[in-house]
Amino acid sequence: MHPLLQILKAQAKAKAEGRRYSFSYHAEKGVTAWIGKQPKGKQRRCGALCRNGEPCKLRVVEGKRRCRLHGGLSTGPKTPEGRERIAQANRQRAATRAANRALLIERGRVIAEEIARRGYSI
Ligand SMILES: [Zn+2]
Repeated sequence: MHPLLQILKAQAKAKAEGRRYSFSYHAEKGVTAWIGKQPKGKQRRCGALCRNGEPCKLRVVEGKRRCRLHGGLSTGPKTPEGRERIAQANRQRAATRAANRALLIERGRVIAEEIARRGYSI
């Protein structure tokens, strides 16, 4: 399709949906398009059931049917390899946190001992 025709089609679509749009030309990149979000009243709402039993009122992620909190962004790894990768990252993070906590406790003990040695009370 001719680039100009492409622009005209995108422009017509954006106009029909009430979105703002702009097209610009760059020597290297050619024609680039910016198309704004749908106007507030026209945005689809998520509708997933919230914990309070009411439907969610957040707007959906572009091109999806749910909001960012109810699976619109990502619903997590699906393949066994992907799940294992996430599990590994979680274990790594937990180990780092445990090590940092142990270090903090040890520092606290050293300080408390020093305070006790000098005869102060805490
Ligand atoms: Zn939602």
